[in-house]
Amino acid sequence: MKVFKICVFFFLLAGSMTDAEDVVSWVRVYTPDEEAFYSLAYRDDLDVAATRYPGYVDLVAQQSTLDRLASTGLSYEYLQYDCLSPESFGGRAYDGYRNYDELVADLNALASGYPDICTLSNLGQGHVGLGDIWLLKVSDDVAGDEPDEADLFIVGCHHAREPMSVEVPVSFATYLCEGYATDPDVQNIVDNLEFYILPCLNPDGWVYDDVEGTRNWWRKNGYDWPGDEPLDYDWGEGTGVDPNRNYTYMWGYDDEGSSPNWYSQIYRGPSAGSEPENQAVITLAEEKSFDSAITFHQYGELILWPWGYKSTPTPDDYRFEEIAQVMYEEIYNHLGYGYYCSQLGTINGDLTDYLYGNSRTLGFTIELNESFYPDDSEIEPTCAMMNDVLREWAEWCLDEFTGVEIAYFEARWRDSKVVALTWDVSTDTETAGFNVYRESDIGCSRERINRELVYGQGPYVYVDADVNPNLSYDYYLEAIDENGVPESFGPVHIDAAEGSKKAFALYQSKPNPSEGKAVIAFDIPADAAVELVLYDVAGRTVTTLVDDTLPAGEHTADVIGLPSGVYVYRLDAGDFTAARKMVIK
Ligand SMILES: [Zn+2]
Repeated sequence: MKVFKICVFFFLLAGSMTDAEDVVSWVRVYTPDEEAFYSLAYRDDLDVAATRYPGYVDLVAQQSTLDRLASTGLSYEYLQYDCLSPESFGGRAYDGYRNYDELVADLNALASGYPDICTLSNLGQGHVGLGDIWLLKVSDDVAGDEPDEADLFIVGCHHAREPMSVEVPVSFATYLCEGYATDPDVQNIVDNLEFYILPCLNPDGWVYDDVEGTRNWWRKNGYDWPGDEPLDYDWGEGTGVDPNRNYTYMWGYDDEGSSPNWYSQIYRGPSAGSEPENQAVITLAEEKSFDSAITFHQYGELILWPWGYKSTPTPDDYRFEEIAQVMYEEIYNHLGYGYYCSQLGTINGDLTDYLYGNSRTLGFTIELNESFYPDDSEIEPTCAMMNDVLREWAEWCLDEFTGVEIAYFEARWRDSKVVALTWDVSTDTETAGFNVYRESDIGCSRERINRELVYGQGPYVYVDADVNPNLSYDYYLEAIDENGVPESFGPVHIDAAEGSKKAFALYQSKPNPSEGKAVIAFDIPADAAVELVLYDVAGRTVTTLVDDTLPAGEHTADVIGLPSGVYVYRLDAGDFTAARKMVIK
C-alpha cells in the first residue's frame, strides 16, 4: 500500500490539556478519498481502532480532536459516545467475558482435568505484575517433545482492550481437551501436532482494562506506568508499549508502521524486544521454531499475513493465501460472508513478521468481530466459528508440514568454481531424503540441481560444481518425509566469489540450540582488529569473547556455561559488522 505523506489536517493532541468536558468517544470518521484516508490511518498521535480502505477510519478520540476533524470538513459518527462512562455501556452485559481469576481457574482446570494431553506453564509477568503469562501445551505425549510433529502457536491479547482474543484461544484449548476422547478429528490433530496456546500475552493491560461495569479502552502494556496506580485515559499519563510493535525483526523499520513517541498507541518501546511480554514469546519461538501461528486481535474481520514492514510479498505468499482461503471458507459457512484476506502492510515489529523473518513461520493475524467489546451474546458464536476455523487450519498444517527440523544449512565457496552446501537435521528427525534447489541473482527461476535424492545419515554435503563465480545464489532444501510429504527450507544466500579469496563471514553457532557448549566460527580475509561480543536479548553485554588483532583465516570462539536463554553475538572486524542469534537450552 502506498502511503501518501500529505497531511491535510494539522492539529496536535496536547498531552496534559484534557479538561473534564473533553469526553473520549469511539467514532467512525468517513474518508471520502485516498488522501483523507491516509491522512488519518497512520497518524501516530491518533488512537486508530480499525481502518477500512478507503472508506473510513475508526478512532478512539477526545471531543476536542473530533471538533478539529469536523472543522476540516470530515464527517464522523459516534459508535459509542463518552465511552469511558458506565452509562455509555447502556446496561449491556459483559459478564460473559472471563476476568483474570476466571481465566487462571479455567486454564488450571484444563491442565488438571486432562493431564495426559494438556500442561500449563507460567512464562512470567509484565512490568507491573498484575497477572502471569500462561501457556497451555496440548498434544498427546504432552510431557515430551515430538520432533516429527509440527509446532503450532496460538496467542491472544497483545492488546488489552481485545477480550474476545482471550476467549477464542481458551475456547479452542477446551475444544481440543474435551473432544479428544470422542471426536476422531480432534484426536487426529492432537495426536499428530503440538499446540502451544497462550490466551493472554498482556495481563497487565488486560487486568487494568477490565473495570466493573465499564472498560478502560486500554491498548498497550504496563511499561513505565506510575507503579500500579489507576491511570486516566489521558495521553499525558501512563506510557505503555505496543507489544505488537516491539518484536525484534525489522523493529523500528520506519515511523509509519510503528512510532518512536511514547504517547502513541503504536509506541514501539525503547529498544527491540525490550518488553517482558515480547521476551516471553521470543524465548518460546526460538525454542520451538513454530511451523504456523495465529495471533488474535480485535477488530475488523480480517485475516492478514506478512510482510508488514514492506509491501512486497514473501516467497511463501501462495501458501499464506492457500491457508487464508481455507479459513475464509469456514468463516463463510458460519457468517454467510468471509473475513477480508490480505497482506498486512504498514506495521513493523509485529509478531507475524518476527516469526516469518526469524524461522519462516507461516503466521496470521486474525482481527475478530466489529468492535472491541462485542456483546456477551457474540462470545459463543464467535468461539464456535473459530474452533472450526482453527481445526481446519490445523488439518491444513498436518498435511503441509513434515515435522522435519533443519539444525543448520550453509553454503560456502570451496574454490571459485564450486559451492559446498552442508546441513543437518535435528536429533530424532526422520527423512527419506532431500532435493536441492538453486536460484541465481539474474532472475532465473528456482531449479532443482540434484539428480538423485540426497539421503542417508547426516550431516549432509552437496557439492554444486556448475556455478558461475560472478553470480550470487540462493539455495533451498526440500526435505521429503517418510510419507513422501515435501517441506522446503532456506534460502541460504551466497555472494559472488571474488576469486577464491575468503570474505568476512560470521557463521551460526553450533550446535544451535546448544546445551552446554557452543562454538562460533568466523572468517576474516586479512589481519584485522576483531571484537566478538555476546549480548542478551535486551541488548546488555554478557561477555566479550574476542578483543584482539587476529591473522587472516578461519577462527572460532567457544561459549561455555551460560544460563539458558536467547543471545545475540556480534562481530566487528575492520569495516565488517554482523550479528546472529543463538539459543542456550
Ligand atoms: Zn490488537
